[in-house]
Amino acid sequence: MNKRGHVLNAVLLSIGIGYIIQPSGDVETFRTIAEVSVPIVLGALFPDVDTAFGKHRKTLHNLLVLGVVLAYPIYFDNLQFVWIGVVTHYVLDVFGSKRGIALFYPLWDEEFGLPIGVNVSSKWADAMMLSVTAFELAVAAFIVYVLPAEIQAQGQQAVGLRAVEGLQQVVVFL
Ligand SMILES: [Zn+2]
Repeated sequence: MNKRGHVLNAVLLSIGIGYIIQPSGDVETFRTIAEVSVPIVLGALFPDVDTAFGKHRKTLHNLLVLGVVLAYPIYFDNLQFVWIGVVTHYVLDVFGSKRGIALFYPLWDEEFGLPIGVNVSSKWADAMMLSVTAFELAVAAFIVYVLPAEIQAQGQQAVGLRAVEGLQQVVVFL
Protein backbone atom coordinates (compact mmCIF):
# COMPACT_ATOMS: atom_id res chain seq x y z
CA MET A 1 0.00 0.00 0.00
CA ASN A 2 1.26 3.50 -0.77
CA LYS A 3 1.47 6.43 1.64
CA ARG A 4 -1.91 7.83 0.55
CA GLY A 5 -3.64 4.52 1.30
CA HIS A 6 -1.98 4.20 4.70
CA VAL A 7 -2.95 7.74 5.74
CA LEU A 8 -6.56 7.40 4.51
CA ASN A 9 -6.90 4.07 6.31
CA ALA A 10 -5.50 5.56 9.53
CA VAL A 11 -7.78 8.62 9.36
CA LEU A 12 -10.94 6.56 8.69
CA LEU A 13 -9.95 4.10 11.40
CA SER A 14 -9.46 6.95 13.90
CA ILE A 15 -12.88 8.45 13.13
CA GLY A 16 -14.49 5.00 13.44
CA ILE A 17 -12.70 4.25 16.72
CA GLY A 18 -13.79 7.67 18.06
CA TYR A 19 -17.43 6.75 17.41
CA ILE A 20 -17.00 3.21 18.79
CA ILE A 21 -15.53 4.48 22.07
CA GLN A 22 -17.81 7.57 22.33
CA PRO A 23 -20.90 6.92 20.18
CA SER A 24 -22.72 10.05 21.41
CA GLY A 25 -21.58 12.12 18.39
CA ASP A 26 -20.95 15.17 20.55
CA VAL A 27 -17.84 16.94 21.86
CA GLU A 28 -16.66 13.74 23.60
CA THR A 29 -16.66 11.84 20.29
CA PHE A 30 -14.57 14.53 18.60
CA ARG A 31 -12.26 14.74 21.60
CA THR A 32 -11.66 10.97 21.31
CA ILE A 33 -11.07 11.23 17.55
CA ALA A 34 -8.54 14.02 18.21
CA GLU A 35 -6.91 11.93 20.92
CA VAL A 36 -6.38 8.84 18.74
CA SER A 37 -6.04 10.21 15.21
CA VAL A 38 -2.58 11.80 15.29
CA PRO A 39 -0.96 8.83 17.11
CA ILE A 40 -2.63 6.33 14.74
CA VAL A 41 -1.63 8.26 11.61
CA LEU A 42 1.96 8.56 12.91
CA GLY A 43 2.00 4.83 13.67
CA ALA A 44 0.70 4.10 10.18
CA LEU A 45 3.52 6.16 8.64
CA PHE A 46 6.29 4.74 10.82
CA PRO A 47 6.99 1.31 9.22
CA ASP A 48 7.78 2.81 5.79
CA VAL A 49 10.66 4.76 7.35
CA ASP A 50 12.54 1.58 6.38
CA THR A 51 12.42 2.70 2.75
CA ALA A 52 15.21 5.11 3.81
CA PHE A 53 16.78 3.27 6.77
CA GLY A 54 17.23 -0.49 6.61
CA LYS A 55 15.51 -2.95 4.31
CA HIS A 56 12.02 -2.02 3.13
CA ARG A 57 9.22 -4.38 4.19
CA LYS A 58 11.60 -5.97 6.68
CA THR A 59 13.40 -3.68 9.18
CA LEU A 60 10.26 -1.92 10.47
CA HIS A 61 7.61 -4.37 9.23
CA ASN A 62 7.84 -7.10 11.86
CA LEU A 63 6.47 -8.31 15.20
CA LEU A 64 9.56 -7.15 17.11
CA VAL A 65 8.92 -3.52 16.12
CA LEU A 66 5.23 -3.94 17.04
CA GLY A 67 6.30 -5.33 20.42
CA VAL A 68 8.55 -2.31 21.04
CA VAL A 69 5.74 0.12 20.17
CA LEU A 70 3.34 -1.84 22.40
CA ALA A 71 5.83 -1.68 25.28
CA TYR A 72 6.08 2.14 25.20
CA PRO A 73 2.76 2.83 26.96
CA ILE A 74 3.60 0.20 29.59
CA TYR A 75 7.17 1.29 30.34
CA PHE A 76 7.18 5.00 29.48
CA ASP A 77 3.49 5.88 29.64
CA ASN A 78 3.52 7.43 26.18
CA LEU A 79 2.73 6.54 22.51
CA GLN A 80 -0.59 5.01 23.69
CA PHE A 81 -2.33 4.60 20.34
CA VAL A 82 0.65 4.37 17.98
CA TRP A 83 0.55 0.55 17.92
CA ILE A 84 -2.88 0.65 16.25
CA GLY A 85 -1.33 2.57 13.35
CA VAL A 86 1.55 0.08 13.10
CA VAL A 87 -0.81 -2.92 13.13
CA THR A 88 -3.07 -1.42 10.47
CA HIS A 89 0.00 -0.64 8.34
CA TYR A 90 1.04 -4.31 8.47
CA VAL A 91 -2.49 -5.53 7.69
CA LEU A 92 -2.75 -3.18 4.72
CA ASP A 93 0.66 -4.20 3.35
CA VAL A 94 -0.35 -7.87 3.53
CA PHE A 95 -3.75 -7.34 1.83
CA GLY A 96 -3.00 -4.28 -0.25
CA SER A 97 0.10 -5.49 -2.09
CA LYS A 98 1.43 -8.58 -3.81
CA ARG A 99 4.65 -8.60 -1.86
CA GLY A 100 3.86 -9.04 1.86
CA ILE A 101 6.05 -8.26 4.88
CA ALA A 102 8.83 -10.03 6.83
CA LEU A 103 6.87 -10.54 10.07
CA PHE A 104 9.65 -12.49 11.81
CA TYR A 105 12.57 -10.30 10.71
CA PRO A 106 15.44 -10.24 11.82
CA LEU A 107 15.09 -13.97 12.71
CA TRP A 108 13.63 -14.85 9.33
CA ASP A 109 13.87 -12.93 6.04
CA GLU A 110 10.80 -14.51 4.46
CA GLU A 111 8.05 -12.04 3.47
CA PHE A 112 4.46 -13.11 4.15
CA GLY A 113 1.77 -11.95 1.79
CA LEU A 114 -1.61 -13.20 0.65
CA PRO A 115 -2.52 -14.63 -2.75
CA ILE A 116 -5.53 -12.28 -2.74
CA GLY A 117 -3.29 -9.24 -2.16
CA VAL A 118 -4.00 -6.56 -4.76
CA ASN A 119 -1.30 -4.58 -6.53
CA VAL A 120 -0.36 -1.27 -4.88
CA SER A 121 -1.17 0.74 -8.02
CA SER A 122 -4.18 -1.27 -9.17
CA LYS A 123 -7.69 0.20 -9.39
CA TRP A 124 -8.70 -2.21 -6.61
CA ALA A 125 -6.26 -0.73 -4.09
CA ASP A 126 -8.80 1.78 -2.67
CA ALA A 127 -11.56 -0.85 -2.46
CA MET A 128 -9.16 -3.16 -0.63
CA MET A 129 -8.15 -0.34 1.73
CA LEU A 130 -11.82 0.43 2.51
CA SER A 131 -12.65 -3.25 3.08
CA VAL A 132 -9.67 -3.65 5.42
CA THR A 133 -10.77 -0.50 7.30
CA ALA A 134 -14.32 -1.85 7.68
CA PHE A 135 -13.00 -5.19 8.91
CA GLU A 136 -10.69 -3.49 11.44
CA LEU A 137 -13.56 -1.38 12.77
CA ALA A 138 -15.64 -4.53 13.21
CA VAL A 139 -12.77 -6.02 15.23
CA ALA A 140 -12.49 -2.80 17.28
CA ALA A 141 -16.25 -2.84 18.01
CA PHE A 142 -15.99 -6.50 19.02
CA ILE A 143 -13.12 -5.71 21.42
CA VAL A 144 -14.92 -2.71 22.95
CA TYR A 145 -18.48 -4.13 23.20
CA VAL A 146 -18.59 -7.94 22.94
CA LEU A 147 -15.34 -9.00 24.61
CA PRO A 148 -15.81 -7.27 28.01
CA ALA A 149 -19.32 -8.81 28.35
CA GLU A 150 -17.87 -12.20 27.39
CA ILE A 151 -15.05 -11.94 29.96
CA GLN A 152 -17.49 -10.77 32.61
CA ALA A 153 -19.81 -13.72 31.89
CA GLN A 154 -16.86 -16.12 32.16
CA GLY A 155 -15.78 -14.45 35.39
CA GLN A 156 -19.27 -14.95 36.83
CA GLN A 157 -19.14 -18.57 35.71
CA ALA A 158 -15.83 -18.98 37.51
CA VAL A 159 -17.29 -17.43 40.66
CA GLY A 160 -20.25 -19.83 40.36
CA LEU A 161 -17.89 -22.81 39.98
CA ARG A 162 -15.89 -21.75 43.03
CA ALA A 163 -19.12 -21.44 45.01
CA VAL A 164 -20.12 -24.99 43.95
CA GLU A 165 -16.63 -26.31 44.87
CA GLY A 166 -16.86 -24.56 48.25
CA LEU A 167 -20.26 -26.16 48.88
CA GLN A 168 -18.89 -29.60 47.93
CA GLN A 169 -16.05 -29.16 50.43
CA VAL A 170 -18.53 -28.20 53.13
CA VAL A 171 -20.64 -31.28 52.30
CA VAL A 172 -17.52 -33.53 52.39
CA PHE A 173 -16.49 -31.97 55.69
CA LEU A 174 -19.92 -32.56 57.23
ZN1 LIG B 1 4.84 -0.67 4.45
